[in-house]
Amino acid sequence: MPRPRHRSRSLRRIYVRTPGGRTVIHYEKGKPSHARCAICGAILNGVPRLRPVELRKLPKSLRRPERMYGGVVCPKCLKALLKQTIRGTISIA
Ligand SMILES: [Zn+2]
Repeated sequence: MPRPRHRSRSLRRIYVRTPGGRTVIHYEKGKPSHARCAICGAILNGVPRLRPVELRKLPKSLRRPERMYGGVVCPKCLKALLKQTIRGTISIA
């Protein structure tokens, strides 16, 4: 019988074959949801769905798009924001 906390189905089960030929179960938490645009809520491309611990292990350039507000605002909203800034309606960065 697995440990009580491992009886829950909220953890993913990963079957791992050990060098000794046994199959053991590793328990992992699921993937977090997609990163979303802070303005329109669209799913952001170029932001991996990983737990923060795993994200830290990636190079910074793989964690989010390397443009201003990359990983926070989608490109459409950024374009609109920049246009408004140039017109002087609002001010960002
Ligand atoms: Zn957006």
